[in-house]
Amino acid sequence: MTPELRRLSGLLGRTLVALDFDGVLSPIVPDPASAVALPGTADVLTAVAARVARVAVVTGRPAADAVRLGSLAGVPGLVVLGHYGLQRWSDGTLSTPASDDGVEVARRRVAELAAARPGVTVEDKHHSVALHTRSAADPAAALAELRPHADAVASEAGLQVTPGRFVLELRPVGVDKGVAIRSLVAETGAAAILYAGDDLGDLPAVTAVRELASSGAIDAGLVVCSDAKEASAELRAAADVVVPGPPGVQELLSELAALD
Ligand SMILES: [Mg+2]
Repeated sequence: MTPELRRLSGLLGRTLVALDFDGVLSPIVPDPASAVALPGTADVLTAVAARVARVAVVTGRPAADAVRLGSLAGVPGLVVLGHYGLQRWSDGTLSTPASDDGVEVARRRVAELAAARPGVTVEDKHHSVALHTRSAADPAAALAELRPHADAVASEAGLQVTPGRFVLELRPVGVDKGVAIRSLVAETGAAAILYAGDDLGDLPAVTAVRELASSGAIDAGLVVCSDAKEASAELRAAADVVVPGPPGVQELLSELAALD
């Protein structure tokens, strides 16, 4: 038994379990389109869902992608927040807002930035646009060179730049995993949170968990770092528990489902 899970003893029925998808439920693979969840994921989430107030997946991906890649459609009561909380899937129903005007502006400018830089690619996520440098000769140098240009486009379009591993994502202001966590706590009345992530995009969620705990809005917060390939050093340092990637997350969730 992971000792830190004891923090949730007595609070399990009022616990929100919120999980990132990539690097947490699914191993990081070269092609994000084939990042399927680890076998057994839906089963363990179903076991956890029977014990806690709510299981949620909070991802930068479109919500339907995570449901499909995770084979999660049958997990009872599951909520999947896509696009960092902009989009919501539950009970087989997807609610999605219209695309932001700023994203429309940025889409064209970002395509120009990529066209001028070998190895830089655009991912159009509809509610955001992302520039990837993974395929550049020097991905880190390409990212650093690109950053001020992406900042300028975001500023012009009224968006914010969210950096990740070899990616800069331009998306609407006021949408992040921290906001998503706060909304899940508000709607469930959760008294405790277990959050698991692996990337820079998870840090706002960690901040939200810490602030909710220190303000007394929740009684316990537990942050888990899935130490997957390319995990963020900041997240690792901020976490209460570090587990070895998606298999470690799955083991921890099994322990949670079996907690007294
Ligand atoms: Mg991730």
